[in-house]
Amino acid sequence: TTSVTVIGAGLAGSEAAWQVAQAGVPVTLYEMRPVKNTPAHQTENFAELVCSNSLRGNNLTNAVGVLKEEMRRLDSIIITSADKTAVPAGGALAVDRDTFSQDITDRIKNHPLITVKNEEITEIPEGIVIIATGPLTSESLAEQIKEFNGSDGFYFYDAAAPIVDKATIDMDKVYLKSRYNKGEAAYLNCPMTEEEFKRFYEALVSAEVVPLKTFEKEKFFEGCMPIEVMAKRGIKTMLFGPLKPVGLEDPKTGKRPYAVIQLRQDNAAASLYNLVGFQTHLKWGEQKRVFQMIPGLENAEFVRYGVMHRNSFMNSPELLKPTYQSKKRENLFFAGQMTGVEGYVESAASGLLAGMNAARLAKGEEPVVFPRETTLGCMAYYITHAEGKHFQPMNANFGLFPEMPERIRDKKERYEAIADRALTTLAKVTQELKLVNQTN
Ligand code: FAD
Repeated sequence: TTSVTVIGAGLAGSEAAWQVAQAGVPVTLYEMRPVKNTPAHQTENFAELVCSNSLRGNNLTNAVGVLKEEMRRLDSIIITSADKTAVPAGGALAVDRDTFSQDITDRIKNHPLITVKNEEITEIPEGIVIIATGPLTSESLAEQIKEFNGSDGFYFYDAAAPIVDKATIDMDKVYLKSRYNKGEAAYLNCPMTEEEFKRFYEALVSAEVVPLKTFEKEKFFEGCMPIEVMAKRGIKTMLFGPLKPVGLEDPKTGKRPYAVIQLRQDNAAASLYNLVGFQTHLKWGEQKRVFQMIPGLENAEFVRYGVMHRNSFMNSPELLKPTYQSKKRENLFFAGQMTGVEGYVESAASGLLAGMNAARLAKGEEPVVFPRETTLGCMAYYITHAEGKHFQPMNANFGLFPEMPERIRDKKERYEAIADRALTTLAKVTQELKLVNQTN
């Protein structure tokens, strides 16, 4: 039988290898640790959690909770091992990181269809391949991936701006307009008076930032400048930069505000907006406190905070299909953080779909595109349909799902309805595809 090669035994690669093997297809799994290490990993275990030990919310009123439930129903090794090794964490699923990774390592190594090799891969192999080497992909392979994908194939980002859920923006305070009314009105503008600007400026320059890890320092200032660093250059600097008000007169008054913060549409459905120029290294709690001072964002929900760390990811909207296959080579899959999904669970989730589809390809079956009503499906859709120029990695969130046919005002009820629809849709897909549901 045709076999599948998986590169990287992190969150995505471990899940991918497991899914391929559980589908009855032999797998060779390559992991470079401990022969070669990454700047963040500490052990030689598979699916090591490099930072927090939390896999985040576990309830169905949380999109990452819905995602975990979908994965549980599809026999995810990451989630079933997490359930086994969970530690008390309120509504979150946190794990004992050592027993968690040990359990996954044991289950993979003991699987009769999985062969593990501790080697660094430096060239993209032939055959059916899943590359899941993560944000800290070794340099030689990163070069190969760049070459394979072309110019915008695989880059580092040092900075990403926060993203808010449009449904939580106070639309009475903001207005839709492009600078000088050029082209279609594309931005939501948050106008500030001089007094509001000064208060915001003071809060921004005195807010607490995250200390940098040494390996993150190298490329730090080559990219865009963090907003708090720009602010510290002088009180007027931002007014000539991202907060420039010229050409952005408020249509209600015809007057030019003292400063304007622009929000840019972030996904095709226009349910998410990012804060233009607001890449930042502020602590998450500080981002919420300071950015909620922006008129219109007082109650905004941040579906993703601004981050600055090393993270190689590819321009998936140009390069990948929602099956996680490369558009250039149908037997080459990518999975994990490098595809632009963000987070442990999301990385594992992309590995699950890539693994399932690689196994289907090995068996001569069509790869499946999961419906957008499922979290697995809407994440895959997001990374392959987001606006390529401003593409940024994304956590699972309710803004990614198609709208419900009827408007549900209460947020909790809306989320429950979306979750319910996701799991009903998943049940249909599993039935149609006769996917084995080993947990039930
Ligand atoms: P990884 O889990 O990193 O797996 C990739 C694997 O590939 C590694 O085992 C690596 O050794 C191996 N590998 C690399 N190159 C090669 C090669 N050439 N040949 C063979 N093997 C290779 N997410 C969260 O949800 N919570 C957090 O707290 C969090 N903290 C993070 C902190 C840092 C410093 C970073 C960089 C990321 C963090 N993330 C966090 C984001 C993300 O969830 C993790 O990076 C996650 O591990 C990504 O999963 P992955 O499978 O894509 O990559």
